[in-house]
Order: sequence, then C-alpha cells, then structure tokens
Amino acid sequence: MDESDVKPALFLSDLHLSEARPKAAAAFLAFAAGPARSASAVYILGDLFDRWFGDDQLAEPFVAAITQALRGVSDAGIPLYVGHGNRDFLLGREFARVTGANLLPETQVLDLFGVRTLLCHGDELCTDDVAYQRYRRRVRNPALQRRLLRLPYWGRRALASWLRRMSRDENSLKAEAIMDVNARAVEDVFRTHSVQRMIHGHTHRPARHVHDVDGTARERWVLSDWHDRGQYLAVDETGVHVREIAG
Ligand code: MN
Repeated sequence: MDESDVKPALFLSDLHLSEARPKAAAAFLAFAAGPARSASAVYILGDLFDRWFGDDQLAEPFVAAITQALRGVSDAGIPLYVGHGNRDFLLGREFARVTGANLLPETQVLDLFGVRTLLCHGDELCTDDVAYQRYRRRVRNPALQRRLLRLPYWGRRALASWLRRMSRDENSLKAEAIMDVNARAVEDVFRTHSVQRMIHGHTHRPARHVHDVDGTARERWVLSDWHDRGQYLAVDETGVHVREIAG
C-alpha cells in the first residue's frame, strides 16, 4: 500500500459548541469539511455540545449547521462515532439518525493499528470528586433519562441549569477543569480492560502521560478543549500526532 493511502483515525472532544463560541464552531466546520474527509474514522469523545436537553434541540438553527456538517462526514463514507460527555449526555437516537453517527458506549476498546486502545469521555476517571460521581450516576441512569425526556423542552432547560449547579461546574468551562483524574482509577481502567493506550477528554488538560501499570508502560492521551482553535489527535501506524485547526 502506498503511504498516502494510510488514513489516520481522528479523535476530538470537549468542543462545547454553542452560539456563544462562534470560533470553536467555525473550527469544527473546517474540521468536518477538511481533515475529517480523509480519515479512516472520526471519534468525538463527548461534550461536542455545551448543552443538550434532548434531541428536539436538533431544530435549533445553530445545532442544524453542526449536524449538517456531521452528516457531510458520514455521507462521505467516513465512519463517525460520537460519545456522551457530561454536558451532552442526553444525545439520543434521533441525533444519531440525523447525523449518521454511531453513539459510543461509556467505554469503547478498539484495536488501533495494532495498539489496544480504550476510549472514554474521562469524567468517570475523576473519582476524587465524590459529589460529581454521585451526580453522574444519577444522570447516566436510563430510567432517570427517560423521565427527563418526558418533560417539556422549557422544563428540561430549567432543570439543566439546576443540574449544572448540582454538578458544581456553574456554567463555566474553567471550573470544569478543577478536578483531574485519579491515578488509581486510571490504573484500574488500564488493568481491567488490559489496554496499552487510553484516549479521553473532559479535564481540559491536553497531555500525553505514561503510567507504569504492573511493570508495563501504558500511554494516556488527554484531548484538548476547543476555543479559538480546535485540537485533535491523528492516530496512524506511526503513532499519535497532535493537530490543530482554525475556522
Ligand atoms: Mn466533560
């Protein structure tokens, strides 16, 4: 195979797209029309949207522009995967249908060019924040989610701001980065799933970490949040590469 035929898998998260952040949205549109089209697959690991009260939000013009861009990627034949973050955990089947995306489970293990790799949003690793983990267990409960989605749209909007106060992140991207992952939780995940590599977001602390787990060095890549520019990881048979894009 020619070298140019090897297409990387692309990973991104924490775009926190909303009308309030047009540069991040422009960077995402550029990503969807550009690098995403020559990927072997695109994985969005949570918090694509800054808030998601239910799939009726698809009717909002801002959201429609984003979902159309996602549809363009899947229509181009690029496998598209979207995971839930702590902000957009209500992304549902209608969102998946409209965009042609596959919704990811909370953790996904895959073979990436011969490296067993685990994908997750990352909030489940922040076990030091006990109050947040309690909140997370409640809102990730399918029965509670069904009850939430039966509420009228305005009711969910109001509830979302209340839930946000409960999760103590108070509508601020900065506050969300206060808690980092717990080292033991990370090691447990490496051990339980016997993976060599982990890719996650959530903490807004982009980095490459090496963890020694039971005498084996394992690699943990933390994805960046998006602001004026976007950052994503391109993974191919040569390894993991950090890439940037602006609108
Ligand atoms: Mn998050």
